[in-house]
Amino acid sequence: MAVCDICFGVGNIPKGEYENCYSCGGRGYGSSTDQACSSCGGSGKSTTEIKEQCWKCYGAGTIDENASVNHTSSKKNSSTSSNSSGSTSSSSSNSTAKEKQNAPSEAIWSISFVLGLFLGFIIYSEKSDFGQAIISGIIVWVISGVALHILYYVLKVIFEIVKVVFVIAMWTAIAIFIGNILGIELAQNIASNIMDIIP
Ligand SMILES: [Zn+2]
Ligand SMILES: [Zn+2]
Repeated sequence: MAVCDICFGVGNIPKGEYENCYSCGGRGYGSSTDQACSSCGGSGKSTTEIKEQCWKCYGAGTIDENASVNHTSSKKNSSTSSNSSGSTSSSSSNSTAKEKQNAPSEAIWSISFVLGLFLGFIIYSEKSDFGQAIISGIIVWVISGVALHILYYVLKVIFEIVKVVFVIAMWTAIAIFIGNILGIELAQNIASNIMDIIP
């Protein structure tokens, strides 16, 4: 979100026109036609400038840059992240970081390519068999690539579980702590048990 550069965050812009004089209703003269209105001096206009809604931010005062510039890609991101576990949507507001998280394949395949290259190089230096080195390298590339993908998703699931367990443990600790202060017997028992376990 950025402050609108047209209205500077106000939400409306002056139209360059002024409202009619409240005293004479825009006529410019008072009760008698030969006398100029004392409020507006005969102009018929008040000092209140007419304002209209900002055409750029529609009165909001701020502009969502992602929505206007990156409309189609942000839509695509939100649809793909809602299809997956949903963890990616909350973790980052940056759209490029989001794309990286949704597609780690590129990094994984480069890592496995380096592994395959490395192994191929070792085999070639050991056996001097170029064909075997290339075949072994490609096999390692593919297998380690698939294995790293599996590992990635396993670690992702473990990470999600750890996150949930951590939150539960944190709230349990808070509950025991508060219960201990308030003198609740159950919480005091749990707290003393934990103290026994911890050396
Ligand atoms: Zn504006
Ligand atoms: Zn007037």
